Amino acid sequence: MIDFSYLVRETNLVGGEWISADEGRTIDVLNPATGEVVAKVPDCGAAETRRAIEAAHAAFPTYSALSVAERARLMRKLHELIVEHTDALAAILTTEQGKPFAEAKAEVGSSAAYVLWFAEEIRRAGGSVIPSPWEGRKLMTTRHPVGVVAAITPWNFPSSMLARKLGPALAAGCTAVVKPASATPLSGLVWGVLAEMAGFPKGVVNIVTGSARQIGGELTSNPMVRKITFTGSTEIGRQLLRDSAATVKKVSMELGGNAPFIVFDDADLDRAVEGALIAKFRNAGQTCICSNRIYVQSGIYDRFVERFSERVAALRVAPGMEEGAEQGPLVDAAAVEKVEELIGDAMKKGAQLATGGRRHARGGLFFEPTVLRNASPDMRVTSEEIFGPVAPVYRFDTDDEVIAAANDTIYGLAAYAYTTSLPRAFRLQDRLEYGLFGINEVLIVTPEAPFGGMKQSGLGREGSWQGLDDFLETKYTCVGGLS
Ligand code: NAP
Repeated sequence: MIDFSYLVRETNLVGGEWISADEGRTIDVLNPATGEVVAKVPDCGAAETRRAIEAAHAAFPTYSALSVAERARLMRKLHELIVEHTDALAAILTTEQGKPFAEAKAEVGSSAAYVLWFAEEIRRAGGSVIPSPWEGRKLMTTRHPVGVVAAITPWNFPSSMLARKLGPALAAGCTAVVKPASATPLSGLVWGVLAEMAGFPKGVVNIVTGSARQIGGELTSNPMVRKITFTGSTEIGRQLLRDSAATVKKVSMELGGNAPFIVFDDADLDRAVEGALIAKFRNAGQTCICSNRIYVQSGIYDRFVERFSERVAALRVAPGMEEGAEQGPLVDAAAVEKVEELIGDAMKKGAQLATGGRRHARGGLFFEPTVLRNASPDMRVTSEEIFGPVAPVYRFDTDDEVIAAANDTIYGLAAYAYTTSLPRAFRLQDRLEYGLFGINEVLIVTPEAPFGGMKQSGLGREGSWQGLDDFLETKYTCVGGLS
């Protein structure tokens, strides 16, 4: 047993104070592997959120005036703390979210890496001197933090999604109000604990849990909030965009995906099977970049389905804290019902089960890893985010046909292709409408590279220098009278 109780807070952080909801209401935090209540967190609303925004606004002038060296030092301390407490942080994550402990540790490791990256990157985020078209004038640009940032995050990566938002915000000199997902608030609240331990001043990081509608309503309408950064579904993203329009906030949106995973006849089959396994079943398929549709060329279709199904059938389904667990429970009952519905719809329209297809014998929220053979475009799995352990496999013949099918979606987050032909790989790079593209590789996310979607998968990029850019304003200054 890993003791993580010292990092758990059942209160919210507002202006450096840990508070309960005004009305005293709470939300139960459940362990999806057992159904047990593991904690209760405040069910806050607009009033508490307003105070959190005011605290962030009050802290902004002093915090943004800290030197870059001092902010980078605080960030490096935060990074060290995440590394030092990795096991406890990962145990919190698995307990409230369900993913296997090894995956939770990898996620926490990724959080640490993002924080370190932004600690380093802020030291390079300079402005420029522009050659002047006029005599006697100097032209320059300088970079400034955007101000108070509101960050809203989902339950599937409750630690690292905050790292990609708090990391650049704090590095840039912004202060923040965070609203974690209600299913996984502990992994959000712990950022407040770590920020305090690292020495960030009071009011720089504020965290409120509770009613998404009320908290979101205040965050989007309050003019003191200058930027909304959101990761979650496209549906809620659209609403936040609409709601942010009245006060013309900057927005970054990391939304849903419907990733194609394409395997050509010339692919290294073993590598493609391993890639499909990871890309589909990581976090039980509850990942925005996980392959939603697997397209396999006719020449290797049967061999692929056979080998892939064998590997999928052997996945060890177990509670995330159990040794050797490879797939944990789904997040809640609605997720299990949706997966059942999608399988039912596909089977009615001609799909066949190659493996899985039912609730797992372990009961509760566990579901069998599933492969569907003979998937077709009219099935719901083709156009909807599955967000569960179900892999529909489609057959195709030509490059043009599969590229058209892959792009036939409102989403454009991640795509993967397996081929040994270099010309083909680069043709795909040109023609696939996706923000992230893995060729013969599925583990492609890293702080050094930009992460984000095209089309209705989002706006802006996280990670890389671009992820910091989104938290900085550029100011142009012209100094005259110099001749
Ligand atoms: P979600 O339902 O959109 O919720 C995401 C967050 O938004 C949660 O904190 C939620 O709070 C909050 N929220 C819900 N309604 C809101 C409202 N009216 N105003 C303000 N906030 C509101 O998404 P999810 O089910 O948690 O996460 C899964 C989705 O996230 C998938 O679509 C997935 O593809 C996407 N995702 C995208 C990325 C990416 O980087 N592109 C990464 C991970 C996930 P409550 O929890 O309190 O409802």
